[in-house]
Amino acid sequence: MILGSGDIGLIMARRLTLEGVEVVGVFEIMPYANGLNRNIVQCLHDFDIPLHLSTTIVEIHGAHRVDKVTVAPVNAALQPQLDRAWEVVCDTVLVAIGLIPENELSQQMRLRLDPVTRGPVVTSTMECTRDGVFACGNVVHIHDLVDFVSAEAALAGFSAGQYVNGTLPRPDNVRLQPGDNVAYCVPHTISTEREHTVYLRARRPLDACTLQLRDATGTRVYEKRLRYVFPAEMVNLRLRPAILQHFHGDVLRIDLIARVEA
Ligand SMILES: Cc1cc2nc3c(=O)[nH]c(=O)nc-3n(C[C@H](O)[C@H](O)[C@H](O)COP(=O)(O)OP(=O)(O)OC[C@H]3O[C@@H](n4cnc5c(N)ncnc54)[C@H](O)[C@@H]3O)c2cc1C
Repeated sequence: MILGSGDIGLIMARRLTLEGVEVVGVFEIMPYANGLNRNIVQCLHDFDIPLHLSTTIVEIHGAHRVDKVTVAPVNAALQPQLDRAWEVVCDTVLVAIGLIPENELSQQMRLRLDPVTRGPVVTSTMECTRDGVFACGNVVHIHDLVDFVSAEAALAGFSAGQYVNGTLPRPDNVRLQPGDNVAYCVPHTISTEREHTVYLRARRPLDACTLQLRDATGTRVYEKRLRYVFPAEMVNLRLRPAILQHFHGDVLRIDLIARVEA
C-alpha cells in the first residue's frame, strides 16, 4: 500500500505495478489527490489502482515484517474516525508524504529559512540572507517542473555574476506576504523597479478563482483571473514595473479568491 497521493506516490504505484507488485491502493489524508492530474490518470486509473481520499493509516501490524495495516477515514479536522477503521492486508508500506528541500547547508550557513518552504528566504535576485550566497531550485522550494528550476537557476547565476562585478541592482523595496489560500511565495521580496516572476502554491484547490495583489491598506494593486488552482501545480506570476508603478508601501499581500460567476 502507498501512503500519500503526491506525484511520487502516484509514480511509485505505477512503477511497482510494472515491476510485478500488486498495489492494493493509494491512501490520501486530504479530500483530493495531491499529484498532477496526468499522473492520477496515467499511474492510477490506467492500472485500476484504487485511490482512497480522506483516509490515513492508524496502525501498522506485523512482527518481522508488515502483514496488515489499519486505516481510517478522517474528519474535516483530519482526525481519524477510529470507529470506522478497517484493515488492509499487505506486506509493504511505502510512505510518500512530501518532499522538503535539503537544507543542511543552508542551516550550516545560518541562512534564514521560510518555515513553510523549509528552504532559504530569497530576494528577487535569488540572494539569501547572507551576502553573496545565492540559491535556486529544489533547495529553495520543491518544484514540480524542471523548467521553473532552469529559469530560477539562470536568474541566480546571472545575479551571482552581478554580485562579483559589483553591479547587483538596488535592494528590493517590497515584501511579498502570502494571504488567503496561498501557502507560500518565492521570492520573498521584489523591487518595483524591475520585472519579476513570482512562484506560489495554493493551500487548497479552487475552480475559477482570482489572484489579487493588495497593499497594506487593502487597496487592490493587481488582479488576474485563473481557471483553477491546485496545490500540486505551482502558479507563476509575471510582475512588470507597469503593474507596480501606482503602488506605494512596502508590503504586497497575495490572495487566491474563489470567483463568483454572474
Ligand atoms: C520523482 C520525481 C519526478 C519528477 N518528474 C519530473 C518530470 O517528469 N518533469 C519535470 O519537469 N520535473 C520533474 N521533477 C521535478 C524536477 O526533477 C526537479 O524539480 C528538479 O530536478 C530539481 O532540480 P535541482 O537541480 O534543484 O535539484 P536536484 O535535481 O535534486 O539536484 C540537486 C543535486 O545536488 C546534489 N547535492 C545535494 N547536496 C549537496 C552537497 N552538499 N554538495 C554537493 N552536491 C549536493 C544532489 O546530490 C543532486 O545531485 C520530478 C521530481 C521528482 C522528485
